[in-house]
Amino acid sequence: MIQAEITLLEELISKSHATIEAHKEELTALDQAIGDGDHGLNIARGFAALEEKKSEIVTGSFPEICKKAGMALVMSVGGASGPLFGSCLMGFGKAADQFPKTQSELAAMLVGGVEAVKARGKSDAGAKTMLDVLIPVLDKIQSQPDLTIADVRDSAHTALAATKDILATKGRAAFLGKRSIGHIDPGARSTALLIEVICEVLETQK
Ligand code: ADP
Ligand code: MG
Repeated sequence: MIQAEITLLEELISKSHATIEAHKEELTALDQAIGDGDHGLNIARGFAALEEKKSEIVTGSFPEICKKAGMALVMSVGGASGPLFGSCLMGFGKAADQFPKTQSELAAMLVGGVEAVKARGKSDAGAKTMLDVLIPVLDKIQSQPDLTIADVRDSAHTALAATKDILATKGRAAFLGKRSIGHIDPGARSTALLIEVICEVLETQK
């Protein structure tokens, strides 16, 4: 890892932590509607742990960094989302041996994360979860030639809004059956927030 990449990863962690912390109440409110109301607290605790251990996490190879970051989330988050986000990060590290530099390297890394979440959650697109943002964004990155940051941002926004109309079949929201319809999925919202952070950080790189 070169110093510029280390700085970028540290910035991603700090900004993710700040964004999640700023949206904690909103995420909690979304989870109060279709879950048990802990998503904001869960995910904020996870990113606080990442921020606290940042300098130790961002050392070694890219796969090692992803693994340490994923483990920190798994260990610190109580709810289902901790192991899911943690698996996603660990999946990135299994699929990418170095920091992704091209669109196709980014896509390959994301495939690793999406597959890990699917396996961990025994889930797929269409169940009203974080995968309903992750998979459309991955599809966009895989299919759009000359992808721009605006394309990524748009696909995340559109996918997030679309979770409102999905019937939940995985996670706590599934217990609500048809009553889950009409609400944005909390994990999809936190995923979209994190994608937005990545977009912002990459924009400032240009
Ligand atoms: P918990 O459901 O244990 O209270 P959280 O509230 O922190 O955990 O996270 C809930 C979010 O986790 C949901 O909004 C959804 O996006 C995601 N989720 C739950 N179950 C699954 C699953 N099986 N596969 C993928 N994502 C899931
Ligand atoms: Mg919850």
